[in-house]
Amino acid sequence: MHELSVAESLMNLIAENAKVSEARNVIKVSVVIGNLSGIVADSLKLCFDEVKKGTIANQAELEVEEVFAKAHCYECGKISPVGQYVFSCPDCGEVVIPSGGKELYLKDMEVE
Ligand SMILES: [Zn+2]
Repeated sequence: MHELSVAESLMNLIAENAKVSEARNVIKVSVVIGNLSGIVADSLKLCFDEVKKGTIANQAELEVEEVFAKAHCYECGKISPVGQYVFSCPDCGEVVIPSGGKELYLKDMEVE
C-alpha cells in the first residue's frame, strides 16, 4: 500500500521537525495532496493513525488539503480544475495539458 510508505516518511519528517523545535507534543499536521498524486486522503489518514502510535505525534490530528491539477485551454482560454484522465476542456472539449496535481508535502505542523 503506497499510502503506508507515505505515512511513514511523513512521520519521519514530523519527528525530525519536532526534535529541531524541541516539541513535547505534536497537535496538528497539515499536508497538501494533489489529486493526481495517487494518494487517497482517507487511506493516508488511516495509515497515519497507525504509524503515529507511540510517537511524539500520538495525539496529532492529520489535516489534508487537496489541490487539483489545472488545465489551461488554448482554445477558449478557460482554466479548469481537472481530475485524473480528464484531459479535455469541460467548456469546449479541446485537448488541454494539465499542470500540477502531483503535490505531496508537509505544509505545516502545530507543536507544543
Ligand atoms: Zn476550452
